[in-house]
Amino acid sequence: MPLLRGRAYDPAMQRELMDILACPLCKQPLRLEATREDAGEVLDGTLTCTACGEGYPITEGIPNLLPPDLRREMEAQAGSPTGH
Ligand SMILES: [Zn+2]
Repeated sequence: MPLLRGRAYDPAMQRELMDILACPLCKQPLRLEATREDAGEVLDGTLTCTACGEGYPITEGIPNLLPPDLRREMEAQAGSPTGH
């Protein structure tokens, strides 16, 4: 009995994803810098654009590829417990 798996989104950041991920600002390739890996999956790290140098965080295996302006806006809305 075939098992149909949903492949819409794999929560684990795979290195193969680097082939399809691109900078949301300039659509150029991203460079992966992993700070924590497990079995070939990047859990924490940073994606850095090779063209404009913008960085995108990877947290718990989920890359955050929102444009920086929008990301900061959402972080501000979520509220920072430490404040400024
Ligand atoms: Zn870029």
